[in-house]
Amino acid sequence: MYYMPTKIISEENCIIKNSAQLVLGKKALIVTGKTSAVKSGALADVAAALESEAVPYEIYDKIENNPTVECVYSAGLAAKKCGADFIVAIGGGSPLDASKAAAVYAVNDIEPMQIFDGNFKNTPLPIAAVPTTAGTGSEVTPYSILTLTAAGTKRNFTCEDCFPKIAFLDGKYTKNLPLQITRNTAVDAMCHAIESAVSKRSTVLSEYIALETLRLIGQCTDALKSGEFTPEIRQKLLTAATLGGITISQTGTTIVHSMGYQPTFTKDVPHGMSNGLLIGEFLKWCYDSVSEIVDRCMDALGMENVDAFLEYLKEILPCEAVFTAEDVEEFLKISMNAKLAPCPKNVTIDDERGIYMRSLGVI
Ligand code: NAP
Ligand code: ZN
Repeated sequence: MYYMPTKIISEENCIIKNSAQLVLGKKALIVTGKTSAVKSGALADVAAALESEAVPYEIYDKIENNPTVECVYSAGLAAKKCGADFIVAIGGGSPLDASKAAAVYAVNDIEPMQIFDGNFKNTPLPIAAVPTTAGTGSEVTPYSILTLTAAGTKRNFTCEDCFPKIAFLDGKYTKNLPLQITRNTAVDAMCHAIESAVSKRSTVLSEYIALETLRLIGQCTDALKSGEFTPEIRQKLLTAATLGGITISQTGTTIVHSMGYQPTFTKDVPHGMSNGLLIGEFLKWCYDSVSEIVDRCMDALGMENVDAFLEYLKEILPCEAVFTAEDVEEFLKISMNAKLAPCPKNVTIDDERGIYMRSLGVI
């Protein structure tokens, strides 16, 4: 099966050129983070487009990184209070994911934790998504990943009605993205493609898209190393991230993502970096089961083999966090409950322990 209902418009100035397409109702709530919408220039374009279409809007700019359930619930209440009937989400994966939850809460009187049920009486508000990072692909997924402070981890909810109705891909919004965030988010997109390709849920179509994601990112290797990005490279990374989102919409991710949530939650390691720390050892662990597809992934990326990929990731992902064997034991208590099914081979606690220890420099 293949399903991806989001309309995508991808070109420079696409919001201004297609302002009518941004209009999904009578009043918009713009959901975004503290700075990204302004820094990227996307807020100015969205505001100008809505004004040109005479559509009123309000702005909710309190979305934190790795948003908590409490944070996204507040965004939902803001949408309800202002009477918005559609959402424009601007930002990285955090505001985009938050907008999906807000779209649910705005029209459903549910307790915050009921969002994880995934079935809602009323259809969530429609969302127009404007990514300002090139990584998560949240603009084309039905997933929203939320932080559960009490449980000490992240959990996602999936709702087909939360696929954004439309996504505007304009690489210029990623122009001022700091180098390390550019690298972390590009690595997130790489992980989406690789995890999707080796997943038991991979299909001919999803693998095709995953390999194309990797080919595009592979064309950006020099830029990711040097930190010099042309507008064409920025647009290419954004396109690749969206393709990565399309491919995980079909297959989901694997243990790299569920294991990656713990370094993010406990040591604030950014999402993409956390996955990037783990993906190399994950591939070495499963190589004997899926060597052909791993080789195709490395080939698409332009890497000689998994070892060369690991060296490259070390170069672009300098991680300052320090991990101990005790940290790993704590991580295992949570990570062993998630995303085991799509893995290319059966996972034991010793497998995950080994991947963590080798990846995080504990042994
Ligand atoms: P992010 O958490 O959205 O943003 C990271 C930082 O980058 C924030 O400080 C943000 O500022 C800043 N930023 C964003 N765009 C910018 C720009 N153009 N210029 C300057 N600064 C900018 O990072 P992300 O990696 O894109 O998203 C990570 C989240 O997405 C995680 O919660 C992860 O679990 C989730 N995710 C979701 C999916 C999915 O399918 N739904 C897939 C993978 C990951 P602000 O604080 O102002 O926003
Ligand atoms: Zn991810």
